[in-house]
Amino acid sequence: MVDSTAGRIAGIRETIAEALSKSGRASGSVKLMGVSKFHSAEAMVEAAPYLDLLGENRVQEAFAKRRSWPHSLSTPWHLIGRLQRNKARRALETFDAIESVDRLDLAHTLDRILEERGESSYPVLIQVNTSDEDTKGGVAPEEAERLLSAVLEKCPRLSVGGFMTIGPNTGDESEIRRAFTGLRELRDRLSCKFGLPLAELSMGMSGDFKIAIEEGSTTVRIGTSIFGARPSYPV
Ligand SMILES: *Cc1c(COP(=O)(O)O)cnc(C)c1O
Repeated sequence: MVDSTAGRIAGIRETIAEALSKSGRASGSVKLMGVSKFHSAEAMVEAAPYLDLLGENRVQEAFAKRRSWPHSLSTPWHLIGRLQRNKARRALETFDAIESVDRLDLAHTLDRILEERGESSYPVLIQVNTSDEDTKGGVAPEEAERLLSAVLEKCPRLSVGGFMTIGPNTGDESEIRRAFTGLRELRDRLSCKFGLPLAELSMGMSGDFKIAIEEGSTTVRIGTSIFGARPSYPV
């Protein structure tokens, strides 16, 4: 059991439950996303019944996998990787939500395509770069308020549910915690300022999801601990 997809996911669910209880949070208040970049559609089909969400980094890869996806599996797909504007249309066709909105020109493009398609509301998160690492996507924390304000004003078809971040790539636990605390505090401030719940905090991966849950994460994005090692880390 332990060395099967179902067994590995059950183990992660246990760790999530412990982290929730340790921090006095309600059980079931964190969604588990399986991040399947570079892994096969077959591996995803096996995992999907045990997951709340599926996360993919690349539009083309996800589009190809989703074309053969069984209709019986209704697990929603989220885009969690950097999105180029010329792939915005295909991204909207492929994904149920986009967690990596990090600039206004992209938000505008998405909004315009949604208008064309006659869709009035599409869920997005704003990705914030909390670790100051150039290789990571996301708006700088000090620019997040301006971006949120512009999206709310100019992109009425985007429904902003909260924020996403990738923790810093370090073994220093206090630095990781600081990034997650920072995102929660940013959310609290902007939620108050704009009078919106902004309830979603997508943060925490295989190596740091316990800390993320203690700091208020509502979605953890787990790849390696579910699907095994990847050939390389996509940028
Ligand atoms: C790859 C990836 C994950 C999962 O990372 P693991 O360390 O394999 O759990 C989560 N979020 C994003 C944005 C990713 O690119």
